[in-house]
Amino acid sequence: MAELAYAAVLTGKRAFETREVIIPRIGPDDGLLRMEAAGLCGTDYEQYDGHFAGTYLGTLPITPGHEILGWVDRVGANAAKRWNVREGDRVIVETSIPCGDCPPCRDGRPIFCDANMGYGLRMGFDQAPHLWGGYASHLYLHPKTRLHRAPDNIPTGAMSLFNPMSNAVRWAWAKPDLREDQTIVIEGPGQRGLLSIVAAREAGAGQIIVTGTKADTYRLEIARELGADATIDVDAEDPVARVMELTNGRKADVVLDVSMGAVEPITQAMDMVKKGGTIVVAGVKTHNTIDNFSTDKLLFNEISMLGVLSSDWEDTDKAIGILQDKWTSLTKLCTHAYPLGQAEKAVQLLGREIQDGPEPIHIHIDTTTPP
Ligand SMILES: [Zn+2]
Ligand SMILES: [Zn+2]
Repeated sequence: MAELAYAAVLTGKRAFETREVIIPRIGPDDGLLRMEAAGLCGTDYEQYDGHFAGTYLGTLPITPGHEILGWVDRVGANAAKRWNVREGDRVIVETSIPCGDCPPCRDGRPIFCDANMGYGLRMGFDQAPHLWGGYASHLYLHPKTRLHRAPDNIPTGAMSLFNPMSNAVRWAWAKPDLREDQTIVIEGPGQRGLLSIVAAREAGAGQIIVTGTKADTYRLEIARELGADATIDVDAEDPVARVMELTNGRKADVVLDVSMGAVEPITQAMDMVKKGGTIVVAGVKTHNTIDNFSTDKLLFNEISMLGVLSSDWEDTDKAIGILQDKWTSLTKLCTHAYPLGQAEKAVQLLGREIQDGPEPIHIHIDTTTPP
């Protein structure tokens, strides 16, 4: 009898169905992952709520789950050599599956690969062998998949922070080239903003300032516990004036915006960043635009403004190293875990449609219990 895998499949806007899939035969070049957990981020909610309809991320039906942690279940001989793994190894799977040959891949920008292959967001459920997303008991390991070995001693929740942690490494540190003793302002204390504090500390930042709204009171408290030197409630104080005060008028070297929706943090960043400084734009504004945006401020102050979307191989490697050192202090971010059969509940909690216990920060789906 054929062995079966299970997947929580998004069949339409706000519609999940559990599907059974016959576990595919593995050849010399590919493999199969037994899923441990899928981490969630804002993208999972946007996907569920139909925001990607009509775009390259709008494939349906699809098994969501692009932040993938699991164990190598089966692996072909060539693949084992290529990935340097054995059956039973705990691994992290990179979301994108780059072809390696197209112009973006050759330019070192694999997330923009022309082949547009990736787990949880691009490859639809109808495409054989169907196991292309993390909300499932198993995941197909395509020959072009990229894997990282994950340490065995870190608990599931903390290990599933690897994706937001790798984003934080890239956004707060690598992209703006944050240096020792520099000042960074992080706007938005979601999981990526909070982990950016950890990344900025690793980079040797001298001063870390985190901004949030009144609704973020608890998350700003966590920010201070994680090493933020100061936090600003933008509903209670003028964040620009406060940054001026905290930096003795010198302003910040780097401002990272990881806030969702509101565009004010971008205009405020223009006034918080020093001459020659860098603004990193990472918060999705869901099509909101900035009125009367003048580029003169950029020009006269030689401000660099960088857009960032995700992270890549070396950021994930660095993130794994940071988690290895710091995971015990980060478990408090892991507020919610749901079994596969409650994937929809997890996504609704993420979108703040429901409440369930503590203030959600990092949510993951425990994929080891069958639905
Ligand atoms: Zn994500
Ligand atoms: Zn490519």
